[in-house]
Amino acid sequence: MITLALSKGRIFDETLPLLAAAGIEVLDDPETSRKLILPTNQAQVRVVLVRASDVPTYVEHGGADLGVTGKDTLIEHGGQGLYQPLDLKIAQCRMSVAVRADFDYARAVRQGARLKVATKYTQIAREFFASKGVHVDLIKLYGSMELAPLTGLADAIVDLVSTGNTLKANHLVEVERIMDISSRLVVNPAALKLKQAAIRPLLDAFSQAIAQGTHAA
Ligand code: AMP
Repeated sequence: MITLALSKGRIFDETLPLLAAAGIEVLDDPETSRKLILPTNQAQVRVVLVRASDVPTYVEHGGADLGVTGKDTLIEHGGQGLYQPLDLKIAQCRMSVAVRADFDYARAVRQGARLKVATKYTQIAREFFASKGVHVDLIKLYGSMELAPLTGLADAIVDLVSTGNTLKANHLVEVERIMDISSRLVVNPAALKLKQAAIRPLLDAFSQAIAQGTHAA
């Protein structure tokens, strides 16, 4: 049995065409079903639904043989104990710094001010500001980051930006682009050895679909 860990939403939806390229069809819709283990048309392949930030943990510890996870989540997890063979080029977005439109970020940085930065991505934020030589106090949040500068909790946020609509709706502006983000395939190295015959064809089908570029939105 091969177990693939996915999170509901964008990653699940954008992984489906890749699975289809490997001849795999998930037999339940996570939006309507409450099941956490979803069968597929192949008796030897199943999908487990976990929180996005738990995908690396499941795969690292063998709760799943492979999984799909954002580069952001992977960096925060550390990536230890995970084989990362493929950039799937799905769920593409960027990690950025944003502030209130009336906050002079460039001036604050120039003056060496100590910035309060709210984010779910403390590892990425810490490394980024350290590389710029900017002193920051990091405030860990788990969601609704956009609210932090509006309420005075923070001067800036570090968050994922896709269309930019969420920032705009909250009168925030993007002032730095930290890195491009997309989702990766992660594989448990022991599973790759033990279940080589089942996992290899899957990796090959995925890379072929990525090379053809037909799967990504
Ligand atoms: P947007 O309004 O399109 O810029 O999307 C921004 C919102 O969606 C923010 O709350 C982000 O945290 C979230 N978001 C955007 N892209 C992704 C992604 N690839 N994975 C997870 N969350 C995302």
